[in-house]
This record gives sequence, structure tokens and C-alpha cells, in this order.
Amino acid sequence: MIFNCSICFEDIPDQEICSLECNHQFCKNCIDNILKTNNKKCPNCRIDIYSYLYQNEKYNLIILQPNNTLNNLHQTRSELLSIANRKLLKYSYFTTFSLLYLLYSYLNLYFNSYNHINTLNQTLDNCNHNYTQILHLLNDESYNVIIYDYEHNTKCMLSEYSYDKCFNLFNI
Ligand SMILES: [Zn+2]
Ligand SMILES: [Zn+2]
Repeated sequence: MIFNCSICFEDIPDQEICSLECNHQFCKNCIDNILKTNNKKCPNCRIDIYSYLYQNEKYNLIILQPNNTLNNLHQTRSELLSIANRKLLKYSYFTTFSLLYLLYSYLNLYFNSYNHINTLNQTLDNCNHNYTQILHLLNDESYNVIIYDYEHNTKCMLSEYSYDKCFNLFNI
């Protein structure tokens, strides 16, 4: 029986027959040509070719993807590194900015608190001072005051503080 290859239409001897897993048969030459292409499928049924039978030996195919070459791996590695570096740079900018903002907030808070405490201290100082002043004024000698109205002259004793306060000589 003579086998006719359906790819090259040539009659081929039995020992050159190559059987695929799907049992479709072609000549060894045509299978070799198919395997050189990127489309490693049976021309009849389109299933992927993973092995074939040739001269009673089974041959399994190991297909190396072109992007698995060392060069490409090296390129991928350097691309990943540059992406990582860019991310690192972005994060370091972000971190620096955050730290600066934190420092700014802290200093702002510190100076605000400092000013606030200063104001409070000043108020307390004023209060103490005024209180002392008030005590001093209250304990000060009294004035002899003569109050005139239209009918009478009234004589009384007023503290200096009261006198000044009542007659608005100065505002405390
Ligand atoms: Zn052929
Ligand atoms: Zn097939």
C-alpha cells in the first residue's frame, strides 16, 4: 500500500510515515516543516502537536518559548529593577514629604502651644500684678473726702482705690 501525504501530495515509503496523536499521518518532511513554524498543529484536525510516532519511536516535543531566552530574562530583570527603582523613588518622595509635613505640623503645634502658654503666663502675671495692685490700693491710706451737694457738705473717708475708681481718675 502506498501512502500519499496530504500536504505535499507525494507518495512516500512506509518508513517515512509520521503519525500524530490524532492518528493523522503525513510524511516526516512535512511534519518537520510544520514544527518549524509557530503553528504546531495537525493540518487536518488542528489539534496541538505534542508528540508523533516515527519508525515505531515516539517523539515528544519540548517547545521553548522565544521569550524564555537568557537575554530576555536579563532584559525582564532589568525592567523589573527599573520599575522597582521608580516605585522606590516615588515612595521616598512620598516619605520625605510626609516627614516634612509631620515636622511642620509638630513645629506649628509646638510654637502655637508655646505662644498660648506665654499668653496664659502673661495673663496670670497681669492678674497677679493687678491683684497685688488692687490689694495695695485697697490697703492704702484713705482719702479724706468732702462730698458737696447743693444742700450739704458731707465729709467721709474713702480708700484711695475707691476714690479713684468712683471718680474715674484712672481706669483699673
Ligand atoms: Zn508530505
Ligand atoms: Zn489530526
